[in-house]
Amino acid sequence: MRLQIPNTIITRLAQEQGFDLFGFSEYTVLKEETQRLTEWLKRGFHAGMNYMSKNIEKRSDPALILPEIKSVISLGIFYKTDDVFPDNPGEGKVSRYAWGKDYHIVIKEKLEAFTSKIAALYPGFNYCFYTDTGPVMDKVWAQRSGIGWMGKHTNIINREKGSWFFISNIFSNAEFEYSELSEDYCGTCTACIDACPTDAIISEYQLDSSKCISYLTIENKGDIPGKYRDKFNNWIFGCDICQDVCPWNIRFSSLTKEPDFLDTKNKTIKFADLDNLTNSTFMKKYGDSPISRARLKGIRRNAGFISKTLK
Ligand code: SF4
Ligand code: SF4
Repeated sequence: MRLQIPNTIITRLAQEQGFDLFGFSEYTVLKEETQRLTEWLKRGFHAGMNYMSKNIEKRSDPALILPEIKSVISLGIFYKTDDVFPDNPGEGKVSRYAWGKDYHIVIKEKLEAFTSKIAALYPGFNYCFYTDTGPVMDKVWAQRSGIGWMGKHTNIINREKGSWFFISNIFSNAEFEYSELSEDYCGTCTACIDACPTDAIISEYQLDSSKCISYLTIENKGDIPGKYRDKFNNWIFGCDICQDVCPWNIRFSSLTKEPDFLDTKNKTIKFADLDNLTNSTFMKKYGDSPISRARLKGIRRNAGFISKTLK
């Protein structure tokens, strides 16, 4: 039976959970996007992230995950705080998204509460959700739901709110009034491409992960190529340069209201602190932070790499 839910109900429930951006898109098979993804994978731009080349069929067609799918609800939640970015000798800089509690933990709880409330109101509501996990094209759905456009740095940008937000998508059997697509407002700007210290944005809308500081400091399991030795600007976990220089963030970025993201306990990592950590004390300290993803071994490797470049 057809299930139509008013958009206003969904946006009210999402706001109650602290989400800041909302959009709705109709289910479709992502043919063109899959072609682009396949081409990107063929060129090896996913570097060591082999999981990205798996489940291509599901990434292309979410009906293989949820057969009764009719739509996607896309949500955004801001994570930027008004803290000044630290730049201290003896400390490595952490990307803004990892300053507070791990967004996977925070947002999963919110999505569980959000979807349970919808299901309580509409018992026929069937769904599954993802926030940066699972075989789905998160950014593509956010774009299709009108949350924003994909910038030349490949992050989604909202014209009124910038790009400092996490994306979630809920795939469901409900139908909605669907959102309009956002135009691409990058225009002639190339600020992100020009500012990237490792030339990872190899052309407009094309990121070579193997050159990106975010990949090299987090997902990368090997050594960091020596050619980048003077390019890391003290980044020990991730990199925010392309988002920092984006005019849409300089003009419009919105601040988080989420207490777990306001608690910015991990803005830097002190090199000296790493000497005393064991794997278990590292996990105790960073277990609820995205920093745990790089593991102690990776963070030590990054510290060794950048500490030689400190000015
Ligand atoms: S995150 Fe840093 S290294 Fe990666 S594309 Fe952006 S500016 Fe370049
Ligand atoms: S810096 Fe300029 S080109 Fe890059 S994403 Fe922002 S607006 Fe687009």
